[in-house]
Amino acid sequence: MAGYDLIVVGGGPAGMMAAGRAAERGRRVLLLEKGPSLGRKLLITAGGRCNITNSAALPEFLKAFGRQGEFLRDAFKSFSNLELLAWLHSRKIETIEERKGRIFPASQDARDILRALMEFMAAAGAEAQTQRPVEKLWIEGGALRGVVARGRIESASVLLATGGLSYPATGCTGDGYALARAAGHSIAPTFPAVVAFETVETWPREIQGTPIKNVQLRATCGERKVAEIFGEALWTHYGISGPAVLDISREIVPALAAGEPVTLRLDLRPNDTEEALDERLLFAIKKDGKKQVQSVLGDWVAARTATTLLRLAEVDAKKKMNQVSKSDRKRIVRTVKHLELHLARPRPIEEAIVTGGGVALSEVDPRRMESRLLKGLHFAGELLDLAGPSGGYNLQAAFSTGYLVGEIV
Ligand SMILES: Cc1cc2nc3c(=O)[nH]c(=O)nc-3n(C[C@H](O)[C@H](O)[C@H](O)COP(=O)(O)OP(=O)(O)OC[C@H]3O[C@@H](n4cnc5c(N)ncnc54)[C@H](O)[C@@H]3O)c2cc1C
Repeated sequence: MAGYDLIVVGGGPAGMMAAGRAAERGRRVLLLEKGPSLGRKLLITAGGRCNITNSAALPEFLKAFGRQGEFLRDAFKSFSNLELLAWLHSRKIETIEERKGRIFPASQDARDILRALMEFMAAAGAEAQTQRPVEKLWIEGGALRGVVARGRIESASVLLATGGLSYPATGCTGDGYALARAAGHSIAPTFPAVVAFETVETWPREIQGTPIKNVQLRATCGERKVAEIFGEALWTHYGISGPAVLDISREIVPALAAGEPVTLRLDLRPNDTEEALDERLLFAIKKDGKKQVQSVLGDWVAARTATTLLRLAEVDAKKKMNQVSKSDRKRIVRTVKHLELHLARPRPIEEAIVTGGGVALSEVDPRRMESRLLKGLHFAGELLDLAGPSGGYNLQAAFSTGYLVGEIV
């Protein structure tokens, strides 16, 4: 028969894994990537360190994807995080586990992962072409015949693995949504799912780039708690970012989208009570009366942050400790324990780590990642209406859904 058994559209983790696995099973596979090279987004994951998966057990993995998590059960069963680790280890890629089950290559280098995927495809005999954007699905008489990419290419099956809308410079410009739509699929509205926030307050700009270590974050809408987390954040020129903020962004974005005002409360010393902090200030007044208050506060939080906090607390940063009044102490402790930011909006989708929304799951058979509307059309990775939190969940979903397609075509 002329043509291929599988054409994979998109050379990200989902597409590469599918191509390699299908070729390993003896299928004739062609992967078409529109960019100049494969895995461009993969290379920037976790700042180039690549948080490849998470050690969470299956139930937690599914739960991390919220209501849609159940859709991933078959894909995770077909290629779980443990199987991904075994796959990596068999390719001499050692891994390390960090906080919250986050797993990275021990080399801390995403290039090792890309190399492994490319070698996997090449060894299995999958053909890959870059600079070859797929323009259209080739559908004739209601049946899928292949794709159009500078001419028609015939294939029994096609996998759309074109990713989402974030970081468009990596090739993710939403082509897959149009291709899926042309096959009759509905697309759940897209939104930035794992993302930082702009704040109404402009003062974070003064201390942009300063990390906020060990902070307790609590997002609320009026009295209602939206999300809470302990971890690390980062002051930015637009507001606030960092791992802990990204982790709770999925809960915050829908509230903002619904027009609800969201306040982010920061406790910068969550392990100290207000009384304990006041005691420490009193102690410093007795012991270090000549010290400036900014220097004392600089022991509690980053020095740059201390100056800004004191301004917010309306205390002169250069004031000597022996001049600090009771009401100064009260305002300092309050600012440190109850700092408030009003979230204006998420950063644009182009800057999101993960795109939410996408190909509607009700129209895709989760046992085969195959369209319920057009036989032979498959989907994998971020293009689907799935978004996990940060922590390795999204790459694992891409690998698992891609592998499942490679396993059944
Ligand atoms: C800055 C950043 C850091 C991240 N860090 C992590 C992390 O540490 N851990 C984690 O789990 N997740 C992380 N993610 C998310 C993760 O990278 C994605 O979820 C994952 O790459 C999705 O894989 P994919 O294969 O579905 O799509 P992509 O990796 O987006 O690949 C899609 C590919 O399809 C190609 N393409 C698009 N249209 C066409 C077309 N018409 N024809 C041919 N090819 C096309 C694109 O050029 C692209 O190469 C991060 C994301 C970003 C932006």
